[in-house]
Amino acid sequence: MTALLERVLGRAAGQGLTVGAIGVGVPGSVDPTTGVIVESHHTPELTGHHLGRALGARFALPAFVDNDVNALALSEWMFGLGRGTDSLVVLATGTGIGAGIVLDGRLVRGGAGYAGELGHAPVRFDGRSCWCGGRGCLVVYASGRGISEAAGGRAVPLVFQAATAGDAAASAIVDEACDALGAMIGTIVGGVFVLEALSVILQVASFKLTGRRIFRMAPLHHHFELIGWSEPKVITRFVIAGIVFGLFSLTTLKLR
Ligand SMILES: [Zn+2]
Repeated sequence: MTALLERVLGRAAGQGLTVGAIGVGVPGSVDPTTGVIVESHHTPELTGHHLGRALGARFALPAFVDNDVNALALSEWMFGLGRGTDSLVVLATGTGIGAGIVLDGRLVRGGAGYAGELGHAPVRFDGRSCWCGGRGCLVVYASGRGISEAAGGRAVPLVFQAATAGDAAASAIVDEACDALGAMIGTIVGGVFVLEALSVILQVASFKLTGRRIFRMAPLHHHFELIGWSEPKVITRFVIAGIVFGLFSLTTLKLR
């Protein structure tokens, strides 16, 4: 990370740009009061570190650290699809699934930064075992790891390719992922935003190359119908992760 920042700062200096601060999004929970990384499953070596303070001292710049999807939610709310709304949820799928929640104009961080762990909220109480020790979590069905495990270890793009080509087993896995996402979006809408204007932004990061099938709205609408809404009162917008919003995300850490 230090080497990457040195390259970025060097390139900025070469273009005559002044860098005012450093923003880092971490895949894990960050204690908002101390800036310490409480837990990071995908980068366990960062757990317990005061990354912001270390980077700030190393580069003599203000450095801000937050959960990566929290940063993404802030950026969508301030600059992106969520502009003008008081509340939104960004549901970001990748290796795991994270969520950033802005409610009534405020990012919800929860105790020790753990808010938004919707990936480990069950969509089926008697469902498959999850690696967190629970059962039926959203990640088991709709994350990159969950989809790959359901397909016997096949890479996720290959699962989507096979589904697109008509493979029945792969199609069932993709349908199940859509159903699981629909169930979670239904939970978010029903449990948080009942009947209010809102945005749920579903960010499909890992599937951008071959994941077109996951954009099918039918399973999601089917789930809305199951819970009683023939006309879904939710704006579900599918966003492909992009470097522009990655940069916006890290910029908003300074602004907020
Ligand atoms: Zn779990």
